[in-house]
Amino acid sequence: MIPPLLDTFKRLIANTGPISISHYIAESNAHYYARRDPFGVAGDFITAPEISQMFGELIGLWLADIWMRAGRTEPVHYVELGPGRGTLARDALGAARRYGLVPSTHFVETSTALKALQLELHPQAVWHADLSTVPADGPLLIVANEFLDALPVRQLVRTQHSWRERLVGLADDRLVPVAGSASMDAAVPADRRDAPEGTILETSPASAAVLYEVAGRLATQGGAALFIDYGHAQPRFGSSLQAVRAHRKVDVFSAPGEADLTAHVDFAALASIAQSRGIRWLGTEEQGRWLRALGIEARADALAASAPAHAAAIHTARERLTGEGQMGALFKVMGIAAPDWPDGAGFGSMA
Ligand code: SAH
Repeated sequence: MIPPLLDTFKRLIANTGPISISHYIAESNAHYYARRDPFGVAGDFITAPEISQMFGELIGLWLADIWMRAGRTEPVHYVELGPGRGTLARDALGAARRYGLVPSTHFVETSTALKALQLELHPQAVWHADLSTVPADGPLLIVANEFLDALPVRQLVRTQHSWRERLVGLADDRLVPVAGSASMDAAVPADRRDAPEGTILETSPASAAVLYEVAGRLATQGGAALFIDYGHAQPRFGSSLQAVRAHRKVDVFSAPGEADLTAHVDFAALASIAQSRGIRWLGTEEQGRWLRALGIEARADALAASAPAHAAAIHTARERLTGEGQMGALFKVMGIAAPDWPDGAGFGSMA
C-alpha cells in the first residue's frame, strides 16, 4: 500500500526542512486527482458543467459564433485543459456541431482516473500531458473550467523584517505554515512592499506559464480561449488557499492528497500576460452576466418546455449557475483571442 501523503511530507520535512507552499499544493493535487472522480453529490465538489448541460452548450455556442465570424478556418482544434469527466466537452461540441463547427478534440489531463472517464464519452479524443504537443496547424479553441484554480500558488509573507517565502514546516508532528529565512523583498513589486506584518502575497507562476503558452499559440495559429474560474478581477492581498472535502472546507494542512486544494485566480494578472504577447483580451465578466448575455434564460425556458416534469430542476440549475449569491458573481469568464479575431459574445456592453 502507498503510505498516506501526510506521512511522506512529514518524513521529507523532518529530513530536509520545510517545503514551499507551491511544492505542497502540486504534490497534494497530483495525488488527489490521480486516482479518483471527485465530482458530484457523492464526491467532494460539483462544477458548472455537472450542474447543467446549459453551461457547456452556451460555451459551444460562443466558440461556434466567434469561429464563424473569424472566417470558419479549418482544420480547427478544440483543446480543453483539465476536462474532468468530459461533460463540458460533450455539451459544447454537441452544440457547436449544429453550426458546422466539428473540431478535432484534444484534452490536457494528468489524472489517470479522469482520463479513463473522458475516454468513455470521447473515444476519438487525443490526450496530452501539456500544451506543447497539441496540433500547430490551425486555430485553437481552448476551454478551461476550474483548471487554473487547481494549479499551485506561491505565497510570500511579510514578517517584521522583510518578505519571506511561506513554507510548510513541522510543529508537534503537525504540518504548519512557517516563514522562510531568506529575504524575498526583491520578488515583491516596489509599490506593494510596504505592508503590515503578517500580510500574504499570493501569485501563481503555474497559471502565468499556462497563459503565456496559450497566448503564444493563439498569436501564431489563431483562435480563442475561455478561462472560467472563481477569482477576482483585480489583484489583492491575502491567502485564498482552501481545501474542500465532501462539500465542506477543511484545514489546508491536515489531509494532503485527500482534499481538493484550490486558490482564487488573479484574472488581471493573467490578462496582462496575454496582452504582453500581442493577444486580444476580450473581457473578464461575471459568470452570471456572461451566461445571461448568451441566452441562458431562453435556453432554460426551451428545455423546460420540452421536459415539463424537469422544469423546476432546470430553473434551479440556471439559478445556481447565474445567481449573485451562488456561482454567478464569484465565478468569472475571461476571453482572449488572436489579434485578427473578432470580439467575443457576452463581454462588455452586451451583458
Ligand atoms: N473542468 C472540469 C474539471 C475541473 S477539476 C469541470 O469543470 O468539471 C480540475 C481538472 O484539472 C481535473 O480534470 C484535473 O485532473 C485536472 N488537472 C489538475 N491539475 C492539472 C495539471 N497540472 N495538468 C493537467 N490537468 C490537471
